[in-house]
Amino acid sequence: MKINLRTLYLTAAVLALGLSAQTSVATELKVTPLGSMDGEFCQLDRAMILEDPDGTRILYDPGRTVAGAGDKRLGKIDAVLVSHMHGDHVGDKHISAPAQGDCKKTSFPVNALPHTNTVNIAHAKGAKIITGSEMPKFFAAKLKALGGDPANSQLVRFGATVKVGGVAITTVPAAHSNGIAGDMIGGKLGGMLNAAGLTAYAGPPTGYVLTLSNGLAVYLSGDTGITAEQETVVHDHYKAKLVVMNIGDTYTTGPSEAAWVVNQLIKPESVIASHANQPSTSGGKMIKGTRLDEFMSLSKAKVYVPLSGHTMSFNDKGKCTAGC
Ligand SMILES: [Zn+2]
Repeated sequence: MKINLRTLYLTAAVLALGLSAQTSVATELKVTPLGSMDGEFCQLDRAMILEDPDGTRILYDPGRTVAGAGDKRLGKIDAVLVSHMHGDHVGDKHISAPAQGDCKKTSFPVNALPHTNTVNIAHAKGAKIITGSEMPKFFAAKLKALGGDPANSQLVRFGATVKVGGVAITTVPAAHSNGIAGDMIGGKLGGMLNAAGLTAYAGPPTGYVLTLSNGLAVYLSGDTGITAEQETVVHDHYKAKLVVMNIGDTYTTGPSEAAWVVNQLIKPESVIASHANQPSTSGGKMIKGTRLDEFMSLSKAKVYVPLSGHTMSFNDKGKCTAGC
């Protein structure tokens, strides 16, 4: 039998390609904040994309700083997480496009009600919306109203797990409130709620723990005060090594409380500050005397600033390896 040299060469080439592809497989989490001003950390910035090493892309709290479903920074989105129903997290309105310059110049001219920025994005991307409490049915009805698939809104209550790609998602308690504003509901009921100065019950607000395909557990605090579960659930059970911590005060833990949570309860390798509710950088540098400044000086874990559009990579131990 005659050996076909061309086939041999081809087989060798395919094998070599396969090997090099295997050795270059991603192992790190990529976090990209989507704020209102490129390269800055501004007052209403909450949104982040977390990309698992397996390519699964999760959008956390889109809020007001993602410029709708057409925002080019989004790319593929597999799941949207919403910690609770307040407008700055669900997105009652939003920027028209990511801009450059002073955080104080941020404006939110696009009204996203009654559907919300979250639902518009999830619908356009065919993404799942993964939430706890009484929120999934609300989002399912909104998806249906847009002509989408209500089954894409999925429930994950405390202690449960939903998997999207290689990412195991669970919710954890947050000490906050979780009313749906009348304008997000619309119609007669929305008007009645507005007139009474009340909101509709959506169950308890949540944080999230994501366990990635490389084993890294990431805690997303949502809006919360100090909770016992930050120690028992987030630290003891899930062993979160990377934390996204809200530091804004008034509505959530302020910088000293947030630092105490990080130092005493969770003890992660790295922290990304979030939800500062004031312009925190100028020209990409931290502004002295801000909540971010105080949080960074009090936290024993390394604190990273979520500069909009700048991707940071974290390994399976929660250590920042690139873009830090
Ligand atoms: Zn908030």
